[in-house]
Amino acid sequence: MLVDNGRSHALADEDGREALRCIRCSACLNVCPVYERTGGHAYGSVYPGPIGAVLNPLVRGTGSDIDRSLPFASSLCGACFEACPVRIDIPSLLVRLRTQVVEESSGRSAEALGMRAAAWTFGDHRRLEAAQRASTLAGRVLGGRTVRTVPVPGLAAWAQARDVPAPPRETFRHWWARTRGGEGT
Ligand code: SF4
Repeated sequence: MLVDNGRSHALADEDGREALRCIRCSACLNVCPVYERTGGHAYGSVYPGPIGAVLNPLVRGTGSDIDRSLPFASSLCGACFEACPVRIDIPSLLVRLRTQVVEESSGRSAEALGMRAAAWTFGDHRRLEAAQRASTLAGRVLGGRTVRTVPVPGLAAWAQARDVPAPPRETFRHWWARTRGGEGT
């Protein structure tokens, strides 16, 4: 019996099929500035390291949160491509998979919603100043304590694995006005 495990799917992908040349030498894993710190199987990957960030979505598709997020677990520095003995262009494949994930999400991802909210806030100085006032108020209430839980959809899971620093107690402009004189927010 042949075990395919999605390899036919990867083979059918004209660009992605080069990932099947991988001989599992782990050279890309050892030079990667991300995976050398997090370990090969970080981020829920079955195949370890940078090639895993390519292979998993290629063989399993981009239907799960893990497979959608893996192509983004890279700084795209290119060290994996330099180290790979069979010259798999991992950075280009990662960029292509990122494009696929973004196009499939059609702007509905938490990141896309966050970017739209940021654009709306930064689009008017009064909205930005109101956001800064809310942020510095939260910073004073928290008293510099690290935030452990973020009760915002899309950010809660992200914050589970990370410490979120408390917002500053005052804006730079307020600090400037307080210490140097002049107008602040
Ligand atoms: S360096 Fe190339 S052959 Fe080695 S594990 Fe990474 S992708 Fe596979």
